[in-house]
Amino acid sequence: MQKDELISLANKMCKELLSIIDEQKEATKEQVANYLHESAQLIMNVSNEDMSSAGFAEALFHNAYKDIANKSLSSYADTNANMKKLTKMHERTLIECNSQHIDLPSLTSKFDEIQAHMSDEVKKANEIISQLSTQVKTLEEKSNLDSLTKVFNRRALSYYLKNICSNNELPYEFHMLILDIDDFKNINDKYGHVAGDKVLIFIANILKKTLRDGDKVFRYGGEEFIIILNRIDDIHCRKITSRLLDLVRGNKLIYKGEGLRVTMSIGTTRYVNGDTPDSLIARADKALYKAKNNGKNQMHSEMK
Ligand code: GH3
Ligand code: MG
Ligand code: MG
Repeated sequence: MQKDELISLANKMCKELLSIIDEQKEATKEQVANYLHESAQLIMNVSNEDMSSAGFAEALFHNAYKDIANKSLSSYADTNANMKKLTKMHERTLIECNSQHIDLPSLTSKFDEIQAHMSDEVKKANEIISQLSTQVKTLEEKSNLDSLTKVFNRRALSYYLKNICSNNELPYEFHMLILDIDDFKNINDKYGHVAGDKVLIFIANILKKTLRDGDKVFRYGGEEFIIILNRIDDIHCRKITSRLLDLVRGNKLIYKGEGLRVTMSIGTTRYVNGDTPDSLIARADKALYKAKNNGKNQMHSEMK
């Protein structure tokens, strides 16, 4: 084989190699260098016999290079895959190593951190619970209170009466008073609804201030109140009722610079065993009706 033949063979091999590399889009510079190196090795290893047949040598180079290129590229791909595998393994190994090696101080501090976090959460939850229970209590109180006068409302009255009347042998006496503001409609008509509201608040405040802790004041309806006087006899009930009438008629409510005089009528009755809320209210109401009929601004008592 002549030198020029060898050169032309090497050129062909180069072309072949380039076309292989071109097909493999992912070939790197390093791979190309490897191919060239292998190619040089092949040339060096070509025996004299081989050299005697350029065609054989050409086929040899051609196949060898194809093989090398393919092997090389597939090994590159494998390496890529293996690298990924290795990276994963490495990661796993690191994790395993970390878990096998117990760093007590950092573990303790981690637990402390978690515990602190947990107790923080519990504290927050407790705060929320206590806020909620306060809100519930406020709501309960509000729902039992009349929003205008801030005395107990009719709902609270029926609950209270149901409770007290369900005890068939109540060990103490109590009296019920029904109060109704006289000519209240005139007050509204003459001074307006706002003035009427102020009269209602004014009366409620007198009642609240005058009565004892054990007594209860309820707003029964528009300008009507019900009072429960606990643990008193008829004489004391009469005295208290009379005092209430005096206080209201003796007080002047100033509204827009004008003094408003208000009076009320009261019907009273004493609870007897077997009374129901309805029977009690009906009797007190009858007494009130009589007080109104007798000229208002007074009390009347109706006993069973
Ligand atoms: P009597 O002396 O017979 O009780 O007459 P009265 O005018 O007081 O009674 P009447 O039942 O004729 O009128 C009651 C009035 O009370 C009518 C109603 O408009 C008024 N009223 C009811 N609720 C309220 C309230 O919350 N605010 C005000 N301002 N007025 C109310
Ligand atoms: Mg009325
Ligand atoms: Mg009235």
